[in-house]
Amino acid sequence: MDVLRIDNEKIPRGTNAELELFIARLPSGTKIHMPVNIFRSKFDGPVVLLSGGLHGDEVNGIEIVRRLIDLHIFERLLCGTVIALPIINIYGFINFSREVPDGKDVNRSFPGSDSGSLAGLVAHNLCTRVLPPVEVGLDFHTGGASRTNYPQVRFAPEDKRSEKIAQAFAPPFLLHSPMIPNSLREQMWNLGKAMIVYEGGESLRLDEYAIEEGIRGVQRVLKFLGMCKTAPKPRESRLFTRSYWIRANTSGLFRLKRHSGQRVLPGESIGVIHGPTNRYEEVVEADQEGYIIGHNNVPVVHKGDALFHIGLE
Ligand SMILES: [Zn+2]
Repeated sequence: MDVLRIDNEKIPRGTNAELELFIARLPSGTKIHMPVNIFRSKFDGPVVLLSGGLHGDEVNGIEIVRRLIDLHIFERLLCGTVIALPIINIYGFINFSREVPDGKDVNRSFPGSDSGSLAGLVAHNLCTRVLPPVEVGLDFHTGGASRTNYPQVRFAPEDKRSEKIAQAFAPPFLLHSPMIPNSLREQMWNLGKAMIVYEGGESLRLDEYAIEEGIRGVQRVLKFLGMCKTAPKPRESRLFTRSYWIRANTSGLFRLKRHSGQRVLPGESIGVIHGPTNRYEEVVEADQEGYIIGHNNVPVVHKGDALFHIGLE
């Protein structure tokens, strides 16, 4: 591809570009743009999308894409193109929110339309102005609502191309995860493109380990695709084909005794819920052998709240 077209801009081989895609104004009249950075090698190769902030408060993904740009490795690609999109949902980002201001989730609004609600408008802009040339996507997320995720890559088991990308990323954990209707990942699958979702850390909290694992994973994928010469050594990832949540069996003050990344055994005490005046105390137990792939950091829980996400091998 001699000339890459993004939003009617022509980007020749061997050049970089910084675009600002106008989405819609704020009620104040301020124009909101989605920043897109494009890096093209002189030589043909895969077109890779790195996207963060589809959920506006999931800052680790935004930081991963920002730091990757700052490392200047994309200016030295052996072949191909990197499209770096640090913040898809600018509205959520400036409001410290997962959603757009009307409460809708952009990642449940694909492919969207230009005449629907704001979430659909953001999705539509991404689909029509950025996605057409993309072949491989890496979308960066974190746990939401006080929940933290141990660094992990999710992909659908039927999506064999994405499975290869996930393995090349080599995160600590790999997780089979069905396609979510109207998500960006499902949209990419429908378009015949590969996409993995990286989850690391918690919303509105920078997590150095999750950020570093994300950066290392991208470097490994670029090396796997022949776009980079060097990358950190791959590791053996642990694959979970199923997962489930352990929920609060009562309401009260919640204390963690185990955390994400750790192995648990059936009957093991992994947390405790106290009544605030010590009238009752309930131990939270694991009921199957597995690994904690995510946990809830919230100090006060209701009966039924999700506490530990357990991955099963
Ligand atoms: Zn997310």
